[in-house]
Amino acid sequence: MTTRYRVEYALKTHRRDQFIEWIKALLAVPFVLYSQPHGVLEDPDRSVDTLSQTREEAHRRYSEIFRDIEAMIDDHIAHQNDAENPFPSKLKLLVPSIGPFFTRLPLEAAFKFQDNKRYISSRRFVSPSFNDIRLTLNSAQIMAVTTYGTLQLATFDGDVTLYDDGQSLEPTSPVIPRLLDLLRKNVKIGIVTAAGYTTADRYYSRLHGLLDAMANSADLTPAQKQSLVVMGGEANYLFEFDSSSPHLLAPVPRQHWLTPEMAAWNEQDIAQLLDVAEAALRDCIKTLNLPATLMRKDRAVGIIPVSPEIRIPRESLEETVLLVQKILELSTVGRSRRVPFCAFNGGRDVFVDIGDKSWGVTVCQRWFSQKEGPHGVIKGENTLHVGDQFLSAGANDFRARSVGTTAWIASPVETVELLDELAELMGKKMS
Ligand code: IMP
Ligand code: MG
Repeated sequence: MTTRYRVEYALKTHRRDQFIEWIKALLAVPFVLYSQPHGVLEDPDRSVDTLSQTREEAHRRYSEIFRDIEAMIDDHIAHQNDAENPFPSKLKLLVPSIGPFFTRLPLEAAFKFQDNKRYISSRRFVSPSFNDIRLTLNSAQIMAVTTYGTLQLATFDGDVTLYDDGQSLEPTSPVIPRLLDLLRKNVKIGIVTAAGYTTADRYYSRLHGLLDAMANSADLTPAQKQSLVVMGGEANYLFEFDSSSPHLLAPVPRQHWLTPEMAAWNEQDIAQLLDVAEAALRDCIKTLNLPATLMRKDRAVGIIPVSPEIRIPRESLEETVLLVQKILELSTVGRSRRVPFCAFNGGRDVFVDIGDKSWGVTVCQRWFSQKEGPHGVIKGENTLHVGDQFLSAGANDFRARSVGTTAWIASPVETVELLDELAELMGKKMS
């Protein structure tokens, strides 16, 4: 599975991978200067020595670079917290697309951890890759939310994060015991998915493995069981776990959870926005000759393949997203900016949703904060969103980056590894 989309775009503004590419370029220098690929050609006895020397040297230099970036992020955080300072941080000058940081990032320690696992410094022909750096950033974030602060809320995307694209959370999924373990540690869980259904039965069919395991669990307390919500359609439908409901999920009426800003979104604007999106999507089906049908919902509109075995080319999906997004931004209702929306490439389909995951995660933060009372306010630094969509057009998980810390995974297997890392660090902190 590749996480890099090698598609060229006319519009570069949405590129999210700049920070990782920038780190990659910094690491390429010691790689070229010190990797010594000719070392493997030497006689076997000497080769072992030079190999371990090279590895140590590469490790030392990569670590130094991560330590320097770590310091730059600290400086960036100091700028971010100083409203009086009109100047951008050094990092902001070097990587203009850099976003806010909710925690500092122990990059050197995270690199050491990943190097132990992935043998990055032992490689002589393959330089530190995009994925090496993505995973190092994830580890640093996991270390940060357990070391400098307390993780109170973990939110998860559905497709590709908890289960394979278009599949469901089956009872045998290794993710399930790890999610139960988080609940046992009193971490709240939000499943923040773009999949938008108005009724609980549809979410039950996607999540039944987890919901049944919770219902049958003897050791989770009632409060811990109440610590799971499903936020569907990005930010449109909220369900809370409820053992006595037919599908183990009880719908929560909108007026109980909409933020004041969301409550001001006007139904007419929403309908108008979806009408514009629908017309643009229909145009794309025609002009790109897409083997797709249109699907209009109450808070979303999308295109899906005419039959499940058909795959629409990635380029066509990306083109559709960028085009629809532009048309929406330039439309009268889009220009008014009264209702946020999210157009994204879901891998096999394209959807335009009302709201986005930044709103979805915000709702989860508020929902659980309000239950805990004034001392339990869940902030960005107490929140971790795990998802796969950070780079493709629309990148719906990337939106969550504005309200909490994030981890970018590429498959459910990586989610399991991340949760194991998290459990180990939380265990250490508790002991
Ligand atoms: P996520 O990865 O859990 O955010 O789910 C995204 C996928 O859900 C999309 O790629 C679609 O296949 C599917 N989906 C189903 N209904 C909707 C909807 O109303 N809006 C967006 N995506 C939807
Ligand atoms: Mg996903």
